[in-house]
Amino acid sequence: MRLGMLIALVEQDPADTIRAVQDLGFPTCQVSCRAQTNVTPELARALREAADRAGIAITTIWAGTSGQEDWNFIDGPRTIGLVPAETRAERLAALKRGAEFASWAGVAGISSHVGFIPENPGDPVYGDLLAALRELAEHCGALGLEFWFETGQETPITLLRTIEDLGLPNLGINFDPANLLMYGKANPLDALDVFGRYVRGVHAKDGEYPTNGRELGVEKPLGQGRVNFPALIGKLRDLGYGGALTIEREISGEQQIADIKAGKAYLESLLS
Ligand code: MG
Repeated sequence: MRLGMLIALVEQDPADTIRAVQDLGFPTCQVSCRAQTNVTPELARALREAADRAGIAITTIWAGTSGQEDWNFIDGPRTIGLVPAETRAERLAALKRGAEFASWAGVAGISSHVGFIPENPGDPVYGDLLAALRELAEHCGALGLEFWFETGQETPITLLRTIEDLGLPNLGINFDPANLLMYGKANPLDALDVFGRYVRGVHAKDGEYPTNGRELGVEKPLGQGRVNFPALIGKLRDLGYGGALTIEREISGEQQIADIKAGKAYLESLLS
């Protein structure tokens, strides 16, 4: 398993995106981009060239969408991902554009949160969401790309059922163990028993369970939260996982860099 970091696309100069990854000594990265309307083939090519020059593998484009998204239990279900009907068409178009960007950049696929997938398969929202996901996955497939579900807002069994119901060959999971804790959805180790065979990417992120019914649990620096990384890495190895461990730290500034460096050293000690 190679290490990596999640880094936001620097649109002014894509080479700066890669420089940040190189400075921290990672061989891989996931590149996140939010404003897909701004991405162009030229931007993608510049990113590709910078990555090639540095010998850094971009393992996925983490495609975000526009508009209000509230990362909590009260407003999250009506604002995040492709679940809300009012923004679904616009966001679906943005994710398709993200797939095109990945294709231009020579990256094998995109990842995203799709929202609070209904737990009840009979909920009409579930059927509508499946139709949108099928359209997105087929668009990715036509470009020769995969679509990976970022874990978080749904239970492992609901994510597994969604993948089964879509029944398409180019679907996978970008497994974020901290999200499963922070959303109170599952013990991340047990989640691998449910959907481990679909894991294609991993976010190395740490956190805690929620302590009230409204707010997510807190995110923590690697090794300081409740994710059991030694056991998790062992289980990923047992599953034959050979992808990247991509460090995600959802703060900014100097502390983010310090935490990423410490997290890298921590994971290196576990992998050696
Ligand atoms: Mg994540």
